[in-house]
Amino acid sequence: MTEKEIAILRIGHRPERDQRVTTHVALTGRALGASGMYLAADDKGVAESVKDVADRWGGTFFCENNVKWRSCIKDWKAAGGKVVHLTMYGINLPDIIGEIRPCEKLLVVVGAEKVPGEMYGLADFNVAVTGQPHSEISSLALFLDHLAEGDEFKREFPGAKIRIVPSKAGKHTEEL
Ligand code: SAM
Repeated sequence: MTEKEIAILRIGHRPERDQRVTTHVALTGRALGASGMYLAADDKGVAESVKDVADRWGGTFFCENNVKWRSCIKDWKAAGGKVVHLTMYGINLPDIIGEIRPCEKLLVVVGAEKVPGEMYGLADFNVAVTGQPHSEISSLALFLDHLAEGDEFKREFPGAKIRIVPSKAGKHTEEL
């Protein structure tokens, strides 16, 4: 099976209040199949936290700080990729995922407070994870799960220094 190339573009990040949520966007993407996150803001702290996790838990997740979001989208499209914008105003996920699944290179855009109107026109797909407001973390998780149809649970993270030993009770880890 050839893996899709999936990256996240986080727009609207406010360093003074969004650090935790943006870090969780990256960690969710990393756990569920994305290969990296572009951050359209200058916040090296997020990139460092994500790198610490990736160093310890394996895989090759990148976090690129301070990108220009319009250029990021333009470059992605120029390289043959498609752009998915997660927004409650879009087409409901189950009604559009079949069109998205064949795309081999996907940039998934998530916002923070208010997303510029221009984003809706730049996206190839505006996708709603229900038409109800919730969050960038939950919408990303559900989108990636529907995209991979559960295969994300089989992912491996080469080079990990630690792994969980799944247990019915208690917390068991193994140093590698
Ligand atoms: N009112 C904001 C707007 O105008 O876009 C929504 C802000 S919401 C807290 C932050 C982000 O979560 C959104 O930009 C979107 O990416 C994601 N999000 C929230 N609810 C969503 C939904 N139902 N479907 C898809 N994405 C959603």
